[in-house]
Amino acid sequence: MIPVNEPVIGVRDQEYVLECLQSGWVSSAGKFIETFESTWAQYCDRQHGVTTSSGTSALQTALACLDLKPGDEVIIPTFTIISCALAVIYNGGTPILIDADPETWCMNVDQIEDRITKRTRAIMAVHIYGHPVDMDPLLQIAKKNDLAVIEDAAEAHGAEYLSGHNEKEREWVRCGSMGTMSVFSFYANKLVTSGEGGMIVTNDNYLADKARNIRNLCFEPEQRFLHNDLGHNFRMTNMQAALGLAQAERIEETVNWKRKMGQMYTEHLSDIEVIQLPIERPWSRQIYWMYGILLKKSHDLNAHDLADKLIDLGIQTRPFFLGMHAQPALQNLGLFQNENYPVADHLSNNGLYIPSGLALTELQMEQVSDALHKILT
Ligand SMILES: *Cc1c(COP(=O)(O)O)cnc(C)c1O
Repeated sequence: MIPVNEPVIGVRDQEYVLECLQSGWVSSAGKFIETFESTWAQYCDRQHGVTTSSGTSALQTALACLDLKPGDEVIIPTFTIISCALAVIYNGGTPILIDADPETWCMNVDQIEDRITKRTRAIMAVHIYGHPVDMDPLLQIAKKNDLAVIEDAAEAHGAEYLSGHNEKEREWVRCGSMGTMSVFSFYANKLVTSGEGGMIVTNDNYLADKARNIRNLCFEPEQRFLHNDLGHNFRMTNMQAALGLAQAERIEETVNWKRKMGQMYTEHLSDIEVIQLPIERPWSRQIYWMYGILLKKSHDLNAHDLADKLIDLGIQTRPFFLGMHAQPALQNLGLFQNENYPVADHLSNNGLYIPSGLALTELQMEQVSDALHKILT
């Protein structure tokens, strides 16, 4: 069986974790935490990094920093992981959905302005499967309406965006450098893993301190057991940070390999007429976190049937996200009644991603491609 994801754990990863264990600093204090935070923040061109126990808790902490009031609204894509909606809801806000762009699969930024109300407080931009959101228009809308931008770069370590691509001043910037606060996950299938883990990166001193405080039960620096706010224990351990640091130190190599893998899949698969492949815009350098394929409307197979046929040929896949508007857990809260998101529905029914982990070999990629040719041509 070719697994959908398999991480690469290198020699240095093991050395750092062992060094951490031998030092005795196994909880959330220690040098690996600090070095991982500063190394990753610097890679993202940011002043502060705040590690957390997961990408989900990083999103929750970032949203907690905004002090939402009941009824405050946060605009999020419907085609994403539930962590995005949960972060808004657990902090007392209301998620407002945007449909997906049919080609990048990220939120369709043309639809944002229509959904802004007096209650809107923030926009959450999620770079889906490694492709950046078109951030310029989103950032402009946020600025005009005085909104915070939460950038979820959990699937986009090292992806780049050509900022100012419609103007004279253009500059390639990294995903994770564009939000008021930007969030990463270091789950085992992400480009950098710490086992479980996450990080908020930001240039805002106040928000960085606040995030540090919230993830650590809001202990007061002056008087430890006095609490002025409600916090969480969302701390990462030094052992996780040791693994994360070793992984972060070879990010350039990882990104180059992932981009090469994506390009190889595209070469192998582009003659299969019934599927749509991931794209790259002139303004994006995507990292193909997971290589998605989408059956075109004309085809009679759906993603579920295709996944079954691939399993029979020894190839594991994962279905695309199911939109937030289609989640019973959220509908039961009275959210998204009578709302339609046709692009996201099309993606969920017809999309899946094929093996994309860092341990995948070129030979395995050819086997995946041969299997797809066999089934679809
Ligand atoms: C993985 C992921 C998360 C959640 O990260 P965890 O570390 O699994 O909690 C959040 N947002 C996106 C877009 C993700 O892909």
